[in-house]
Amino acid sequence: MTNPFDLTGRVAAITGANTGIGQGIALALAAAGADVALIGRTPAEETADKARALGRRAEIVSADLSSIEPVGRVVDEVVDKLGGIHILVNNAGIIRRADALDFSEADWDAVIDTNLKSVFFLCQAAARVMVGNGGGKIINIASMLTFQGGIRVPSYTASKSGIGGLTKLLANEWAARGINVNAIAPGYIATNNTAALQADETRNRQIMERIPAARWGDPADLGGAAVFLASSAADYVQGHILAVDGGWLAR
Ligand code: NAP
Repeated sequence: MTNPFDLTGRVAAITGANTGIGQGIALALAAAGADVALIGRTPAEETADKARALGRRAEIVSADLSSIEPVGRVVDEVVDKLGGIHILVNNAGIIRRADALDFSEADWDAVIDTNLKSVFFLCQAAARVMVGNGGGKIINIASMLTFQGGIRVPSYTASKSGIGGLTKLLANEWAARGINVNAIAPGYIATNNTAALQADETRNRQIMERIPAARWGDPADLGGAAVFLASSAADYVQGHILAVDGGWLAR
């Protein structure tokens, strides 16, 4: 019987793959057999080296996703360099923290543009290639704040709640075209994005007390969910938001 999780021969494009969750997912997809295109503003040299050490092709595609200007070129470059795009992981994202009473338009726009607008237009550009090639897999990175409100992060919560709705809409439109659109909602994962929370003794303790698994997640913890959603094992999974959160949402 063939392994339904095998990604051999697939090309996976991952945004923000130089560090954190994006790096963890890129290496998990490479370990499952995929060649990887590493899209981002900081060259993902370390990730590329590790993917190549696994025997995969790895290409770096330079792009600042704070605007949609590079989106069309990015997808063209992935296809030119690796011969296709079968899997897209929209991982790149930022967060800005301030009280809602003081929150600035600049912090609103920066987060929405990177976390939501660029994601939609990358999905669109990749899907235009995928529909001509029998389909593909799109995985958006959501958040606990796709389900909850959070505090002092209004644009982030709006962007990640938007990712939940967008994932379902795209699944509805594209399921019959052979494209699976799903999301992964990470819990509290130790990365640059959460460095401030990890360093804050009180918040760190409060977070740890609420996680049934009693530890922060590691980027590698997201790998299994990503491989599943990127693989033929998930062919009938559409518009799902898969929490990988050590039980956070179950509390
Ligand atoms: P991270 O370590 O800060 O990584 C963020 C990645 O996004 C980096 O590769 C970063 O590149 C890239 N990025 C940011 N702005 C970009 C831009 N304008 N153009 C291109 N790339 C850009 O954070 P992370 O925790 O791994 O976060 C990855 C994703 O998971 C984000 O969408 C985040 O919201 C989500 N998430 C994280 C957690 C968590 O607990 N860590 C929980 C839920 C959801 P640079 O290195 O160049 O900045």
